[in-house]
This record gives sequence, structure tokens and C-alpha cells, in this order.
Amino acid sequence: MIKLENEVAQLEQPKSEIKYDTGLEGKDLLSKALLNLLAHAGHESKNPTIYITSMWRSPAKQANAMYDNISQGVIISYAEPGRIVTQLIQAEIKNKTPKNQIIQLAEAKINELAEQSKLVSKHCITKEQYQKLNVVDISKTRTPNPRDLAKALLKEAKVSRIITPFGELSTYGNDKRVLIDVKEPAIHVEYSV
Ligand SMILES: [Zn+2]
Repeated sequence: MIKLENEVAQLEQPKSEIKYDTGLEGKDLLSKALLNLLAHAGHESKNPTIYITSMWRSPAKQANAMYDNISQGVIISYAEPGRIVTQLIQAEIKNKTPKNQIIQLAEAKINELAEQSKLVSKHCITKEQYQKLNVVDISKTRTPNPRDLAKALLKEAKVSRIITPFGELSTYGNDKRVLIDVKEPAIHVEYSV
């Protein structure tokens, strides 16, 4: 009887709504537990809607996203493979190469690097890998309380990494899973399924 009451209480726990930006691939790869966590952490942090702006990305999508950022002057600090692709895109923009050709070149480079196990982005992994490590971006402009959201997410041990443009390490109790990057265009969350 008590168990049943607990279950009912759990079901009635208030949740935030989760919305997806259009054109996202791989919704079926997201863990239900992560969606549940986002909905509850959203509510706890007074963010009534969680807008997912990016999740699994094919190499073509990754190349597109990088081109869009770079052509708008947004340069994200990547690890070496990402820097290689960033430099390629920057050089081709300078050469006035057409957009679709630049994206094709970037996609080919991303695939070439992936074959050497050099990942450009944690979003751009095989579907099998993604099902073990869900990587989602949450809108930074449509999240009114981004610091509290990150803090609420960090209570879950399965959250293995958060990259955010907001706050300082001390904001998050110097949690080693947090990386502050003012150029990060979203709140980036990695979840070990
Ligand atoms: Zn991300």
C-alpha cells in the first residue's frame, strides 16, 4: 500500500515540458531516464520548458553546424580534431569556396578523423556509441535559469559532463564534471546511460 502511494506521488511529481528544435535526428536514441531527469531538473530549477537544440549528429549535420557557427564568427574551443575541421572551414571561407562545397569538405574530414578515432564532437559518434552516452544541448537563450538547471542536473551521477557559458567553477561547487566556456553556444550535457 505504501509502495503504491509512493508510485502515485512519483507520477504526480511536477515536470517541465521538453521541446525539440526542428530537424533533429536520433530522438529514438535518447534514454527515457535522461528525458525524465531533464524534466524534473527543469522543474526544480524553475525552467518550465527545456528546449533541446542538438543531440545525435551525423557527420553531415556536424559539418553544417560547424559551418554555421564559424561563418557567424562563433569559434568554439575544440580539442585537436575539431580544431583541424575549424581551420579547414575558416580557410575555405577565406578562399570564398561555396558553402555546400565547404560542408562536403568538412564532412569528409570529420569521417577521415573518426576513422582514426579522433572525434570532432561528442555529438557526432556512431548510433551504438550514442546509445551509451547521450549528448544533448539545451538552449542557452530560452533557459531562464541556466545555472540552477546545471546544478540540478549535477545531482545525478550519470551526468558525466556539463559545458556551459554561465557562471564560474565555484558556481557549481568546483564540480570536476563542469567545464566553463563562454563561447559554448548551449548548455551541453553528457549522460552515461
Ligand atoms: Zn554540445
